Amino acid sequence: VSRKEELRVLIIGLDKSGKTTLLEKIKGLFGDTPGLEPHAILPTVGLNVGRLEAFQAQLLLWDLGGAPGLRSIWDKYYADSHALLFVVDASQPARLEEARCELERALASRELFGAPLLVLANKTDLAPEGGAGSSARLGLERLEGRASRVQPASALSGAGVREGLQWLVEQVR
Ligand code: GDP
Repeated sequence: VSRKEELRVLIIGLDKSGKTTLLEKIKGLFGDTPGLEPHAILPTVGLNVGRLEAFQAQLLLWDLGGAPGLRSIWDKYYADSHALLFVVDASQPARLEEARCELERALASRELFGAPLLVLANKTDLAPEGGAGSSARLGLERLEGRASRVQPASALSGAGVREGLQWLVEQVR
């Protein structure tokens, strides 16, 4: 992906994991970057898009609805994505297995082959240690041929958000 080209980041995760909050936080952090006119589009139910400039890259972030009925639309966007941002609620260990299944399904998609994966272990403001176990429990050690990283974060406070996004941009560049 060249500097001029738009870098498309697909945000997925279970419902209530914090995807929309994250996208709004990212818009707030980077949306007023000089030289870029920030805008957000809300074209359809279950899809939220953010266009902004961050770390000298032109980003398009897609936040897809995570409710069970909407998960089937995820793969329609896979082919157009360069990087994957999976949001997991680190304060809800009871849903980690469900999250692992969804992540596995996404990673099995041929369209996402080789795309770098950032797992945002979100809501660590509620569960400071919640990010630690996420890597093993999401099965990330078994990933091959794909850059991946777990970033403890809080979409609410913004902690960890810049670091995670920067890592992801650097993997694609
Ligand atoms: P989505 O369904 O994945 O888009 O999740 P939302 O962004 O709608 O967030 C679901 C709920 O979790 C909302 O009440 C958010 O305010 C809350 N939430 C999201 N991120 C955080 C976080 O980092 N910390 C805390 N404490 N709450 C969060």
